[in-house]
Parts: sequence; structure tokens; C-alpha cells
Amino acid sequence: MKDCRNLRDYTLEELEALFSERGLPAYRGRQIFKWLTRPFVYSFSQMTDLPKHLREELFGEFSLALPELKDEEISADGTRKLALLLEDKEIIECVIIPEEDHYTLCVSSQVGCAMRCAFCLTARMGFRRNLRPHEIVGQVLRAKEILAKENSVNKKPLRNLVFMGMGEPLANYGNLLKALQILLHPKGFNFSKRRVTVSTVGLIPQMKRLGEDITVKLAISLHAADNETRSRIMPINKRYPLPDLIEACRSYPLPKGWRITFEYVLLAGINDTVEDAQKLAILLRGIPAKVNLIPFNEHPLLPFKCPSETQILRFQEVLLAAGYVATIRKSRGRDISAACGQLASRLAA
Ligand code: SAH
Repeated sequence: MKDCRNLRDYTLEELEALFSERGLPAYRGRQIFKWLTRPFVYSFSQMTDLPKHLREELFGEFSLALPELKDEEISADGTRKLALLLEDKEIIECVIIPEEDHYTLCVSSQVGCAMRCAFCLTARMGFRRNLRPHEIVGQVLRAKEILAKENSVNKKPLRNLVFMGMGEPLANYGNLLKALQILLHPKGFNFSKRRVTVSTVGLIPQMKRLGEDITVKLAISLHAADNETRSRIMPINKRYPLPDLIEACRSYPLPKGWRITFEYVLLAGINDTVEDAQKLAILLRGIPAKVNLIPFNEHPLLPFKCPSETQILRFQEVLLAAGYVATIRKSRGRDISAACGQLASRLAA
């Protein structure tokens, strides 16, 4: 069995160091890094600008394995859910969302999730394991392959990434950071920092590290405007209470003109009243914020209901009147269980 080191786990700097250590020029690392950003590259023999002996040497030592596409479901609204098989037979899902002039990929960061949010289906799977960098980057490559095969005339680019799939990205901090470094590097995938969003339940220490280590958009799964309600639906709030989370948001190093997105899943009778909206408006005062209201996606296994449309619009109205940018997230791919909080391969299997 080959050494399980996968070259796709390496950042550009690490690849350069790897070659320097072997007495080879660092630019070999850059050449490989570039190859690894291209779809349909599966073997060293395709890397035609590397000397043959080097390709053979690498073949003996490193893997280039990617998650395998196991299944693809296409929603009536064009959203596609991919099921990807990992080397240890675990399955993860990611979702390609068509927008007007681009695609967005909703990326998973873990197999399952340990956060136990009461309204989320992924939580019901429990936590299985963290994804390695190549398994995160691999979702992007598989999505690119699918989109490249499409024979439409005006091809739209895969431009945006949201870390809103299965798992809590900041609970897999080291691997997430590496994957982000690979995906954002101008010599590699070259995703724009403005178009990559990491969503978190609010792991405060890792939020601090993220702010220091890299610039990407931040989204906070807030879901309640008072500490008690939040603890009831999000167990993590007992560890990192709402006031501390808000403080961490206030001190987050945001580039000029950027806002933090606050996600707020609307649950009938739990957090959806006008008073809740008013509390939210006060809570976020002074933070460059954008509120993204997510009507709850119902599921037989989940004990909540989605509020009426009138109730949702009333909630939004309060935030708009208070001067916030507040949008209602359109549910995409609900018919194929690809909508927010519905990714849960083990349950479906
Ligand atoms: N763990 C990270 C990344 C997942 S993002 C986080 O929580 O931010 C997925 C988003 O969908 C989160 O905001 C989550 O709270 C929300 N969500 C989960 N279950 C949902 C459901 N049934 N309906 C609508 N949104 C849901």
C-alpha cells in the first residue's frame, strides 16, 4: 500500500519546501500546485512539464486521490447535490447553486457534525470525522468537472464558495485553513476573498485565529437574539454564550466596507416574533452586519415549523426599519434535500 500522503493536502509553500528539501528547485512545487488546480488531472503522467524520473519518483510516494463522484441529483430549480465517496467509504455532500452570472458551491468541512443544533438534520448524523484539505478542495474540483462537461453556450464560472455544507468548519480549523490557502492562492484556484464565506456556530477562539490567519467573509449562525433561546436550540451557546459571541464579532478584524453575515433560521413560535426582531436589531447595533433570514426547512425528524410568510416578512420589516440589510434566503434544492441543514448522507442511506 502506498504512503497515504496526498499531494493535494499541501499548500504552495509546503510543496516548495518539499522540493527544496530534496535538493530540487522550488519551482517544481509551483508547477505541481498549478496542475492540482485543474479539473481532470488524476495522474503524474499528465504533468508533462515535469521530468519523467521526477514523475515516477512522486508516483511511488504520493497519492493524488480525490473524492469519487457517487451520485448526483438535480433539483427542479437547477441546484445540484453531489454525493462524494471518500477513501474510507464515508460519504459527504456538496451543493452547486446556479446564480445569474456564476455558480456558488456549498462545501462540507466534516463528515457529520458535533454541534447538535436542534433544528439541523446533519446534527442527527453525529460527528464522524474531519475532512482533510484534499477532501475539501476535492469538492471544488469535482464541481468544476461537472460544470465543464456541461455543453451550454454561455458558461458561468464557479465563482463563490460558502462553507455551509455538512460540519462546523472552525471545528476543523487546521485543515480548513490549509484548504482556504490552497483555494485563494493567486497561483492556484485563485478564488477571491470576497467570494469565499466561512459560516460558524461561533467557536470564539477559532474565530480569533481565522481573523489573524486569513481574510475571508464571515457568517455567524446566530438564530436567536437572547442567550436563553439560543442555548435552547444551539447547545454550543452554553460554551460560548451570546454576549461573548457578539463581543467577538465586534472585535473581528473586518476589511473596510465588509459586513459580517448573521444567519437567522426562523422557527415558528421559537424566535420569530416582532419582539425577537427588535431584540436582534438592538443586539447587532454598531456591528457592520447583514442579516440573512432562513425560513426553516421542515423535516419529519425535526420538531419545528416554518413561520408563515406574513410572519417572516414582518420580521424582516423590523430589521429594515432599523436600517439593516436583511434578506430572506431563497430555499434552493429542497426537493432533493439539498437545502440548508438538510445534508445528511447517512440518514438518507
Ligand atoms: N456549522 C456551520 C456551517 C453550516 S451552515 C454553521 O452552523 O454555520 C448551514 C446553515 O443552515 C446554518 O446557518 C444552519 O443553522 C442552517 N440550518 C440548519 N438546519 C436548517 C434547517 N432545517 N432549515 C434552515 N436552515 C438550517
